[in-house]
Amino acid sequence: MDFDLSEEHKMFQQAVRSFCEKEIAPLVDEAEATEIFPPGLFPKMGELGYICARYSAKYGAAELGKLSECILLEEVARISGGIASAVMVHSGLGTSMIADHGSEELKQKYLSPAIRGLKISAFGLTEANAGSDAANMQTKAVRSGDHYIINGTKIFITNGPYADFVCVAAYTDRSKGPGKGVSVFVVEKGTPGFTVSRKMEKLGNRSGGTAELVFDNCRVPASNLVGEEGKGFRYVMETLDGGRISHAGRSLGVAQAAYEASLKYASERVQFGQPIGKFQAIGFKLSRMATQLEAARWLTYYAAWMHDQKRRCLKEASMAKLFASEVVVDITSEAMEIHGGYGYMMDSPVQRYYRDARLYTITEGTSEIQHIVIGREIGAP
Ligand SMILES: Cc1cc2nc3c(=O)[nH]c(=O)nc-3n(C[C@H](O)[C@H](O)[C@H](O)COP(=O)(O)OP(=O)(O)OC[C@H]3O[C@@H](n4cnc5c(N)ncnc54)[C@H](O)[C@@H]3O)c2cc1C
Repeated sequence: MDFDLSEEHKMFQQAVRSFCEKEIAPLVDEAEATEIFPPGLFPKMGELGYICARYSAKYGAAELGKLSECILLEEVARISGGIASAVMVHSGLGTSMIADHGSEELKQKYLSPAIRGLKISAFGLTEANAGSDAANMQTKAVRSGDHYIINGTKIFITNGPYADFVCVAAYTDRSKGPGKGVSVFVVEKGTPGFTVSRKMEKLGNRSGGTAELVFDNCRVPASNLVGEEGKGFRYVMETLDGGRISHAGRSLGVAQAAYEASLKYASERVQFGQPIGKFQAIGFKLSRMATQLEAARWLTYYAAWMHDQKRRCLKEASMAKLFASEVVVDITSEAMEIHGGYGYMMDSPVQRYYRDARLYTITEGTSEIQHIVIGREIGAP
């Protein structure tokens, strides 16, 4: 057993931390205010191999493993949960179906520029009446010669307001059910019939945009079908399974930031003639936060390590996502308590951590859905 990160991982972590502190931190305030991912950041990260990091070097990616990807998202989220969300969706959900199942043409046209940060991606699955129950989607695509005509509306789409392309799930044959009737298409910005109908304002993770997307008789070339017709739901589920570990990595970053801020504040803030951290009540909060963070980190790294060993890790990935996302909600709430009124003020980053964290038990499979997956994996009746 070896619980140490390799020298390579440690160097990577240091390099990413330094990049995030120098290059991302100064951009956060404006991105939070405008709800627009900082323009220019994707190409900068792309140049360093910090986005779409797991893909093949053939298309320009760094070919890093899942553990490195977790470390990367943890470091980005330590500075900004919202920026990490946009990076995570672009590096995984928005591109992975093209990387894993797309034609060479789609890889050259969309994946390669996405890896360099020159094109931004989004993932269109959720609809007004199809959230956890994604199979209830109403969006459909009908073949018409060498095109498909897509009709439907997707909501809550991360990167939606400014994405250059979206991987959209739609029924091509409802009679076959989700298992054989759903397909995935790449829809490019500017395609007639595709509009960003509204930008959706959010409680947290404001450094990345979220939108509703409408497809109204939107004609896409048949060559934009990802993989095989009818296999889309399987591709979507595979994508979401792989994304859970990355999602846990992002949760760790926000939890780490809230914990570091709390430890510092508890040493500096004096009440009743002593730093508040000396009160046992506050000291216990800090030790609990540190323990939760450590446990979440090792659960996440373990799932990532299993993934890198190409071992089956559905259960471990769901456990990591479930635990890390619940821990970050707890830790950011305790951070707010420790900071008192100052944490509640908008010029304190602590209120941002608190708002950002609240999302993480909801997206990419709610906590309840993770329990269902884990229950199935452990053979619960
Ligand atoms: C900021 C943000 C960004 C997002 N980004 C994207 C994106 O980029 N692309 C995309 O496609 N989607 C995205 N989503 C959608 C997200 O994945 C869904 O919100 C999520 O899957 C939950 O669906 P829902 O909101 O419809 O909730 P619902 O599914 O309606 O769930 C409501 C409640 O019911 C519970 N519930 C539902 N079914 C069950 C069950 N079987 N057993 C027990 N409890 C159940 C849920 O756990 C939850 O507590 C985003 C959402 C948000 C908020």
